[in-house]
Amino acid sequence: MLRIGWIVVVILMCCTGASAVSADDVQITVLYDNYVTDARLETGWGFSCLITGLQKTILFDVGGNGAALRGNMEKLGHDPGTVDAVVLSHGHYDHIGGLPVFLSLHSDVEIYLPRSFPDGIKGDIRKTGARVEEVAEPTQICDGAHSTGEMGAGVVEQALVVETSLGPVVITGCAHPGIVAIVREAKRMTGSDVYLALGGFHLTWMNTRQITDIARQLMEEGVKKVAPCHCTGDRARGIFARMYMDRYIGIGAGSKLIMNHGASMRKTGKGR
Ligand SMILES: [Zn+2]
Ligand SMILES: [Zn+2]
Repeated sequence: MLRIGWIVVVILMCCTGASAVSADDVQITVLYDNYVTDARLETGWGFSCLITGLQKTILFDVGGNGAALRGNMEKLGHDPGTVDAVVLSHGHYDHIGGLPVFLSLHSDVEIYLPRSFPDGIKGDIRKTGARVEEVAEPTQICDGAHSTGEMGAGVVEQALVVETSLGPVVITGCAHPGIVAIVREAKRMTGSDVYLALGGFHLTWMNTRQITDIARQLMEEGVKKVAPCHCTGDRARGIFARMYMDRYIGIGAGSKLIMNHGASMRKTGKGR
């Protein structure tokens, strides 16, 4: 079946905000990635993160290895039973492989997946008791969290748009439809420039000139900060780090980003 590693990172940034987490904070914790910032965690190819602080606790993708996801959640102090909704970006194993283990722990959840997912997968999910929400168009998951709906002509994928007091945060699985296209859709949906784009940017197959062009386009679109991980690739991460400078956030499994109401973002964990 699907095997993947994990990474956990915790990110820590300059702490310009209050140290206490307020009720208004939105927190994004990377649970699974091929980069890691917390050495206790298991790493593997794939991606998963947890969004807390909204009406619903949202698990975005589940990585490729459910045992690793479970272990990492435990080490990070996150109970699977608290998850209200799971958003699956696309059907590749490194984003959905952990689902059987997760649903064996907690199946009283809504699963938001692209409508084009195979019927077999939808049926298997329903058998566990989980509720399948098929997404085609932009869809509200709860106050402050929306799916872009299905995007892309090749690998169909949805991204998650989370509204925070700092601006919209876009979370991508692999960004197969293109990170720039996804950011533009998030801008269209929210009417605001994107504060942070986070997740897999899918740039490993591009050369330096192409990656530089993508980074420039994101800047031109007004993306203030970037936190590329998973399938972004080392070369692209390096280019983004140089171009975005202190607005680049190095993340991996274990990274936690806290979007404070008071206009600051704290990051816990290390690594780039
Ligand atoms: Zn992927
Ligand atoms: Zn993929």
